[in-house]
Amino acid sequence: MISSVMIKDAAHAVGFDMCGVARCRHLGDDTLFLKQWLDAGNGRGLDYLGRNIEKRGDASLLVEGAKSVIVCGVSYKNIYSDGYPDSCHQKIASYALTTDYHITIKKMLQQMCATLKQSCPTLSGRVFTDSAPVFEKRYAVDAGLGWIGRQSLLVTPKFGTFVLLGVAIISEECDSYDSPLQGVGCGECRRCVEACPNGAIIERHIDTRRCISRATIEPSYDQSTPLHGWIFGCDECQSCCPYNRKVAATPNPLFAPTFDPLAIDWQKIDEAEFSLRFANTPISRSTLERILSNISPRMDK
Ligand code: SF4
Ligand code: SF4
Repeated sequence: MISSVMIKDAAHAVGFDMCGVARCRHLGDDTLFLKQWLDAGNGRGLDYLGRNIEKRGDASLLVEGAKSVIVCGVSYKNIYSDGYPDSCHQKIASYALTTDYHITIKKMLQQMCATLKQSCPTLSGRVFTDSAPVFEKRYAVDAGLGWIGRQSLLVTPKFGTFVLLGVAIISEECDSYDSPLQGVGCGECRRCVEACPNGAIIERHIDTRRCISRATIEPSYDQSTPLHGWIFGCDECQSCCPYNRKVAATPNPLFAPTFDPLAIDWQKIDEAEFSLRFANTPISRSTLERILSNISPRMDK
C-alpha cells in the first residue's frame, strides 16, 4: 500500500504541475472506439496504433500485477502557444519547440519513482510517456486531471490543453484514488471545431486524413492536405481553447523553447546544422527535406 499524498508530493517535487492516481481497470470502451476508428480508415500510416490494442485496454499486460496508475501532467505553454502572426508560413507546434518530452518526462517519472521506492521498497512498475500502448488520456480523466475535449485532447481546468502526460503503472495499491472531475467540461463551446482550418475535428475524434499535424510529420500522408503555414505539427485547435487563455507560459526551463521558430531561415540551413540544432527536439523525427517541402508549395492553400 502506498500513500496518495506521498505520490503527489514526489510528482510535484520533480516538476510536474499535476498528479492524480487512478485504479487500473479494463478499458473496454476505449479499445472498442480505437478499433472502430482504425476500421474507418483513420489509422493509415499510423500502424503503431493498431499494434498491441489488447495491451492498451489492459495495463496488467504491460505490468504484471498492475494495480494503480499514477498520471502526471506538466504545462508546456509558451509564447507561441496563443498563435503565430497571420503572415507566418513556418509555424511549429509548441511542444516541438522544446526538448523532446520523451526525454524530459521519462526522466521526471524515473526520479519520482526512485523517491517513492525509498519509502516503499516493494514498489514495482514501469513508466510511460507516449512510449507504449497506454490510454494515457483515459487514465488522466480517471485520475481527475481533466476531460477529453472536442478536439480529442485532455483539457485541464487549471493548465488548459498545452499539457504533456506521463504515467507510472505500478503494482502497488494506493491508500486513496482520485475520481473524474464533475461539473466541468466543454459545455456549448465548439471553438476548436470551428478553428480547425481543415475541418478535421468530428465530435471528439480527429479525421487524421485531414489533420495538418499528421500531414506535416507522419511518413504516410495526403500531399494535397492544405497546411496553412504549419511546417511541423499544428496548434490551431488548442490556441483557440478558452481554457488556455488565462494560462501563463510555463516557468519550467525544461519546457521552454530551445529556439525561436520565427528566427530560422530554413533555406539557409544544411543537413549538418539541422541535425545539430534539432537533435533533442521532436523535430528530429522529421528531415530538413520534409520541412522545406512543407514550407513553400502548400503555404498559400
Ligand atoms: S491539429 Fe490542426 S489540423 Fe489537426 S485537428 Fe487540430 S486544428 Fe485541425
Ligand atoms: S475549444 Fe471549447 S470545445 Fe474545444 S476543447 Fe476547448 S473548451 Fe472544449
